[in-house]
Amino acid sequence: MSDFQRICLVHYHEIGLKGHNRATFEMRLLKNLEVILAEYPLVTIHRIAGRLCVFLKEGTSYEVANACADAIKDVPGVARVSCGYKCRRDMQEMGRLAVLALSEAGDFGSFKVAARRNHTDFPIDSMQMNREIGAALCDAYPEKAVRMKDPDVTVGVEVVQNAVYIYARSIRGIGGLPVGSSGKVMCLMSSGIDSPVALWRIARRGAVCLGVHFSGRPQTLDTSEFLVDDIAHVLEKTGCVARVYVVPLGDYQREISVVAPPALRIILYRRLMFKVAERLARREGCGALVTGESLGQVASQTLENLRATDAAVEMPVFRPLIGTDKVDIIDMAQTLGTFEISSMEAPDCCTLFMPRSPETHAKLEDVLAAEALYPIDQWVEELADMAEPHDYVCPAYKRKKVKVEE
Ligand code: ATP
Ligand code: MG
Repeated sequence: MSDFQRICLVHYHEIGLKGHNRATFEMRLLKNLEVILAEYPLVTIHRIAGRLCVFLKEGTSYEVANACADAIKDVPGVARVSCGYKCRRDMQEMGRLAVLALSEAGDFGSFKVAARRNHTDFPIDSMQMNREIGAALCDAYPEKAVRMKDPDVTVGVEVVQNAVYIYARSIRGIGGLPVGSSGKVMCLMSSGIDSPVALWRIARRGAVCLGVHFSGRPQTLDTSEFLVDDIAHVLEKTGCVARVYVVPLGDYQREISVVAPPALRIILYRRLMFKVAERLARREGCGALVTGESLGQVASQTLENLRATDAAVEMPVFRPLIGTDKVDIIDMAQTLGTFEISSMEAPDCCTLFMPRSPETHAKLEDVLAAEALYPIDQWVEELADMAEPHDYVCPAYKRKKVKVEE
């Protein structure tokens, strides 16, 4: 066994993490990372001086370590991740590993050393460490410039207790809070572009996200269900989705289309979706619904229509994209990796039995009068019971048992 180890050092923002909150936050992030990084050669993850240190197995290549860091950076709660080594408190060894870490940091023109010690029992102070390790790096890289202001790479050297942590490649994380630190929500997921982005933004704030997808089945094919499953697999990589319920809405939409004034159909479909989502949310102990709506984006997203759908439920409805332009949502979907899946053609249950001119300024009393023609409460119960759960990897979620038919 060599006396140095390859590590990824995970940094998180410390704002709002005072008192006992902090330990809960760190443990949550640690547990999430343990599960999300299952395919990487990890030895263990420890809490060290306000960081998490991911230890990689001996013999792990720097390509694998870098891939592991790339996976870490996308996990909610991670502000920054750095690649490097843990070693003994020995200046020669520290110099050697600083050279190695820098050689693995990719292309760079300039660098500096930022050393610090958490324990003053280490006899060499940070100024002297900067000088000595800087000298070792200058010997190894005579052609590179030392720059104190805005260098391409900063070589971090941290003496903590009996060990030293040295890193060079450092990448920004997506920030936010670890999933599982902000309760649970139920997200309405179409197979479109917006809803996965909305879900992700709430997950990034620490909420455990469950989804519900309404398909047009049996009146349409089940293509959208496969797309939603593909989207959930993308979100699962960072622990952002726990479970998605699929609800076949087609027959109920047909019923609505038979009697209701055509202009109100979409609002009635949507109110039914919200009610079923709320029922499932209550069963799961969720505190809010989440949608991908953006003000004025399409006919059903006017203020009046948003109000008419909100009035269908008691739970708060969060719309993280309400003030976001489509182009920006598309950018986020591309970064997230869901854009291509969302761009595929699938029958959208909202457009099933689509009227020629949907109402854009629905009056709540008209909507309620139209809805009174149907046994809505019974439908909501039936649809919630029909909902098929699909499970994904989300360490913060404790699975609820689902009623199994006798
Ligand atoms: P998206 O890109 O998310 O589909 P959109 O711009 O196409 O959004 P709508 O189709 O009006 O807009 O949907 C608005 C929101 O309603 C969606 O973001 C989603 O939260 C919810 N929603 C729409 N269709 C469905 C569905 N079939 N199943 C579950 N939720 C849906
Ligand atoms: Mg849509």
